[in-house]
Amino acid sequence: MNAMILLLKKPFKNSLSYAQNYFVKRFSQYNHEERLFTNLHRKERRSIKDALDEQTRFEITKILKKDPIDIIKTIEKSRLRGKSSGMPTFLKMLDVRDEMAKDSNIENKRKTSVVVINAAENEPGTFKDRMLLSYEPLKIIEGALIASSAVDSTLCYIYTRKDYYAEMINLQKSIVQCYGSKLLGRNILGTNTKLDILVHPGAGTYITSEESALLESLEGRFPIAMQLPQPVSAKGLFGLPTLMLNVETAANLSDIMKREISNKEVENNYETKLFCISGDVNNPGITEGKLSCSLKELIETHTGGVKDGWDSLVGVYAGGPASGILNKEQCERTTMDYQTLEALGCNLKNGSLIVLNNQDHVVDSLLNFFRFYSKETCHICPVCRPGIEDVEDVLTDLQHGTANFGEIQNILSRFQQPMQEGIVCGFADNFRRPFLTYVNNFQHDLVRRTR
Ligand code: SF4
Repeated sequence: MNAMILLLKKPFKNSLSYAQNYFVKRFSQYNHEERLFTNLHRKERRSIKDALDEQTRFEITKILKKDPIDIIKTIEKSRLRGKSSGMPTFLKMLDVRDEMAKDSNIENKRKTSVVVINAAENEPGTFKDRMLLSYEPLKIIEGALIASSAVDSTLCYIYTRKDYYAEMINLQKSIVQCYGSKLLGRNILGTNTKLDILVHPGAGTYITSEESALLESLEGRFPIAMQLPQPVSAKGLFGLPTLMLNVETAANLSDIMKREISNKEVENNYETKLFCISGDVNNPGITEGKLSCSLKELIETHTGGVKDGWDSLVGVYAGGPASGILNKEQCERTTMDYQTLEALGCNLKNGSLIVLNNQDHVVDSLLNFFRFYSKETCHICPVCRPGIEDVEDVLTDLQHGTANFGEIQNILSRFQQPMQEGIVCGFADNFRRPFLTYVNNFQHDLVRRTR
């Protein structure tokens, strides 16, 4: 009997070590030193007590004792950019500090600011926030501490997607452990720093990716996008100067500062990015790569390649559906950085690659995304209201091979005009990009499906 159990156990044991070797092999292509989220690859849920060793405590104390301006200078040196917006992070911090300096001249006005970390990804094909909340909560909390120190804030909100329930609980547990370990609350690790973190479940709508809608939701109202009279750095949450960061950007801060205090190079930190890769690939998942890496290398190295081989590739949404779609020839030569993708009519956005290896999947996926947008848009601006439904109709006709050039031309003439008048938020631009890139990059397919 014992021998039988041993025999049964052996293959299971081997399959575990195979999986471990597979991960090591898969991720060893990138230098370990260059990766920031090492726990994401190990996929271990460690308690804060285990993660918060003497060395980490020492480093955080040293960072918190730094002058806020020195923290901002280090972030400037790292050239860290918002992982969603692409805006330099140090500029956002300086804007908040400038506003606070103005406020402090006004009598009886409280000199305070607030940090909001957005971890409520809603775009189809995006799951990096979920992974960070699950496996790197300490990095998020450290990032919140550093961002708050840089803008003299004592309050930070982490806004998460409401259906990431288990991840939210995991983050909340980590926050409670941090309070217990003196990493949050008053006099953090014996310094003068004070910070409270509140986790706020999202409203469950795509529009909360837009900052005005997110603030509405955080203030307890129904989230709708609106034109803000002033930037959020001047008048954001509850009318206070607000620093808004994507959760990946915030989680980058701790490594940048730790490298700086250990006199390591910080210049290259901005060059890494989390990429979620899904669709027609052998092993969908998340990986961390250099911003300048080639799209082909990213897919071939980290996902076991395209299903049925690279030659079967048809197109890739390079940064999520709203970023636009590239054809195979563009995928062969493009690198994953802001400038190159912009030059191709796409953008990097949240770094979610959706790989397609079947010609029919292109129009099917576009139609799926436009149905999603049509449900999620707030329908208050003229571009979104009829615009999305019109594209949906054209895509349905394209799917059936009955579209006509007149309809497509009509939409193109509307989409190609600068979208300034009557537009409340930047989402209108998101909606037109996938359609425009399809028309530009898949002309053969378009002609084939049009009468
Ligand atoms: S542009 Fe679209 S999503 Fe943005 S506020 Fe107007 S209708 Fe809503």
